[in-house]
Amino acid sequence: MEEILADFIVVGGGTAGCIVAARLAEYGFKTLLLSSGSNDTTNLLIKQKSLFTELLQASHLKHYLPHMPLPNLNNRTLNLIVWNSLGGSSINWGGMERMMKSECDLFVNASGDQSFSFEHMSLYYKKVENFTTTAPFPVDGIHGDNGPIHMIHVDEPAFSRVWKKVADELGETFSDDLAGSIDYGFSFEPSSFVNELRSWSASEYLIPALDQYPNLTMITGATVTKLNVNPITKHIDSLLFVSSNGCFRAVAQKEYILSAGTFFSPHLLLLSGVGDPELLELNNIPVKHILKQVGKNLTDNGVVTVEYQTKGLPVGQCIPIALVNRQVKTTDTNADLFFVLQMDHATEHLYILIFNGLPKSRTGSISLYNANPLVPPKVTLNYLDDEKDIEAFIDGINYMRRVMSTNAIEESAKVTEISPGLQERNLDSYIRNTLEPAHHFIGTCSMGQDAETSVVNKDFKVHGLDNLRIVDASVFPTGFVSKAGPCLTVYALAEKAADVLKQEYSR
Ligand SMILES: Cc1cc2nc3c(=O)[nH]c(=O)nc-3n(C[C@H](O)[C@H](O)[C@H](O)COP(=O)(O)OP(=O)(O)OC[C@H]3O[C@@H](n4cnc5c(N)ncnc54)[C@H](O)[C@@H]3O)c2cc1C
Repeated sequence: MEEILADFIVVGGGTAGCIVAARLAEYGFKTLLLSSGSNDTTNLLIKQKSLFTELLQASHLKHYLPHMPLPNLNNRTLNLIVWNSLGGSSINWGGMERMMKSECDLFVNASGDQSFSFEHMSLYYKKVENFTTTAPFPVDGIHGDNGPIHMIHVDEPAFSRVWKKVADELGETFSDDLAGSIDYGFSFEPSSFVNELRSWSASEYLIPALDQYPNLTMITGATVTKLNVNPITKHIDSLLFVSSNGCFRAVAQKEYILSAGTFFSPHLLLLSGVGDPELLELNNIPVKHILKQVGKNLTDNGVVTVEYQTKGLPVGQCIPIALVNRQVKTTDTNADLFFVLQMDHATEHLYILIFNGLPKSRTGSISLYNANPLVPPKVTLNYLDDEKDIEAFIDGINYMRRVMSTNAIEESAKVTEISPGLQERNLDSYIRNTLEPAHHFIGTCSMGQDAETSVVNKDFKVHGLDNLRIVDASVFPTGFVSKAGPCLTVYALAEKAADVLKQEYSR
């Protein structure tokens, strides 16, 4: 079998993987990126905002992720999306939020490392950002204007006045910028679609790095099937991957970086004999290293959409959002609902996405159907397992009804609720019939301080293994729910991990 050598091997050319690979190459290391997907960075279907709903139907660019019908959702199955294309899930709706300060504190507590604090993480967010705004306030000092990812914060005076008045009428705060000192309340969302074109990790980090650094090699269509873990030395000796050209072995002389995402990073660990011994034995996989938390703690907000017909609402390109508490005045620690307002200008229909910021249902998990690496992982989802989550969404729908009947909205536009519709008495059933994944899946290789309760440590190193790190959305700590989107944080974590590696190996 042909063998390939590199200093670092990055598994998965997704959101985080493209950044880690590009940075390691920039820092002078011989880097190999293996990604199961294709390179579609010039494909308009992926780049253009107006084609995103069409892209969502394109099954050839996705991983196949089936799951059992969900009794809590009236036996529906959901369309789980992981793009099998360079950039992975950074091919998304484009919402770019940072963690709130209180969320950074959760990271600090879980990892025991102050370098996850709000102040310190801000340096990595800035490193990612190439930020512009139309808002009439200075952004100096908060955002980066020199990073690879282009993002724009659109604040239109006509609707800004309305949105501020809505907040005021409801006794809530308006924040000019959620990345600033007030990280909750009514605001506008920065987007990674600039001039209708997507800016994502493949286009902005990886492709330029491939042009610039001869020490960076990428193989697409390469599915990693196994990490060869030595159970005595706890060293990864090599990995195996398959592509249309056959089976290959690759060896990292420094480290392996697993960036296959929340579904596939734990899957590959389990296939390699790293995980809960009961599950491994059940699937006839020899146990190489016991780590019981692998695949546990699959977390997502879930999203329910309400639809309004509007006339005259002065929303142009801005994306109104609200991160609020549904019962009492919002503070920096109690926000439990996140709203995103999306206007379809052709039909003048307004879609309001309601994200559950604090789900109470049991978390889900990633496990195995069998030991075949080409069979997708077994995904268990527990949306609406706890009645309190139904209540949260009902409160969310009613909260938006209050928003739509404020004087501020009624004076500026005519809005009529289409769905669920004011005549709909059974909101419980509406929610069970329409809830969709928010695709903010995190937590299946959680960060923490010991091998009993987590999978990786503060430096992204897998507990007890010598030369393996995980850098992707799976490392969010247990109990963490990304209130808004996790994408910008995954970018920042990838920059942080690359920095850790640079410091460790440049000594
Ligand atoms: C449809 C959608 C919309 C979203 N919208 C938003 C939003 O608006 N705002 C926001 O903040 N977040 C959003 N998110 C969430 C956010 O994009 C993700 O949390 C984040 O991108 C995850 O990044 P990752 O690096 O963990 O994984 P991914 O980006 O999924 O990368 C994993 C990569 O690994 C590859 N891979 C998997 N297995 C293997 C293997 N065995 N061998 C080789 N390669 C492998 C995959 O092909 C994939 O490319 C959205 C997600 C989706 C799917």
